[in-house]
Amino acid sequence: MADIIQLLPDHVANQIAAGEVVQRPASVVKELLENAIDAEATNIKLIIKDAGKALIQVIDNGKGMSTTDARLSFERHATSKIKKAEDLFNLHTKGFRGEALASIAAIAHVVLKTKQENQTLGTSIKIEGSTVVSQETVSTPIGTSIAVKNLFYNIPARRNFLKSNTIETRHIVNEFQRVALAHPNISFQFYHNESEIYNLNAGNLRQRIVAIFGKKTNEKLVPINESTDVVEIIGFVTKPEFAKKKRDEQFFFVNDRFIKNSYLNHAVSSAFDGLMPSGVYPTYFLYLNVPTNSIDINIHPTKTEIKFDDEKTLYAILRSTIKHSLGQYNVAPVLDFDR
Ligand code: ADP
Ligand code: MG
Repeated sequence: MADIIQLLPDHVANQIAAGEVVQRPASVVKELLENAIDAEATNIKLIIKDAGKALIQVIDNGKGMSTTDARLSFERHATSKIKKAEDLFNLHTKGFRGEALASIAAIAHVVLKTKQENQTLGTSIKIEGSTVVSQETVSTPIGTSIAVKNLFYNIPARRNFLKSNTIETRHIVNEFQRVALAHPNISFQFYHNESEIYNLNAGNLRQRIVAIFGKKTNEKLVPINESTDVVEIIGFVTKPEFAKKKRDEQFFFVNDRFIKNSYLNHAVSSAFDGLMPSGVYPTYFLYLNVPTNSIDINIHPTKTEIKFDDEKTLYAILRSTIKHSLGQYNVAPVLDFDR
């Protein structure tokens, strides 16, 4: 009998992996922004055209790449962020899978320009559907620019499956907000079809929230601040009277990474029990810092779900911290009276 198993060529493997990593233009935005953050950029610019369907470009002033690294960055499982299996339990970067650039380059037209601090000239690489079309030495600022054009050009089913520009833009804005909220110390600009959507200066967390959600948000915020052996919780919840019908302003960050977690969300809601009518939801911006070895981030390619060692304890601490802070806020006006 003839043997029939063969290893898939790289470009096919990359395209399959891309199916998991890149669901829509917003997924590309997330991956590129996170790479810029991992490169220690202090300024990041996001430019999109036609809801990201025509162009997604991220320009950072981070540490850039050498010519060899620039070429390698598009290989699958090529990463500078981890070296061995144990590193997975001690992650200090957004990325570690080494899959994003390989996946994106498999399903789009990509132009990378990058230069390191010590180089006079940088590298430009053009890659289309995993094939390097050109590589040149170019003059370019320190940092990295990655332009992704014609996403899903070679997967018509995916391209046709994309939603309207309004919906795809909303997804991109959501990803942008999550990243910008996780990193108030980085300045961000965001342009869509040449018009400015956000221009965010580096600042503190309160300033970042206000810059994104508007001046009126400022007076609604109740600070949260708690530190225990298992978790440090900082951030804000809004006062109960500002609860919203929509749950679109609920943000959890764990070690500076936006995550979704319905169990912890329940902990927050239950802290508001009796303070809000039913059918409305609190707004919150909560930052949990936990030891890197107490979580597993490698659950899903998009990394928005993570596993905690001890979710029950976190739940209890989160709930009581918020209850306590809301209680303090309630007595605050009386205290103000004495001053
Ligand atoms: P990962 O982020 O998981 O390592 P990626 O495919 O996103 O995988 O990127 C591959 C590698 O390319 C990174 O590990 C990093 O070394 C390099 N890289 C990607 N984007 C940038 C950037 N904006 N600045 C500097 N280096 C980058
Ligand atoms: Mg990455």
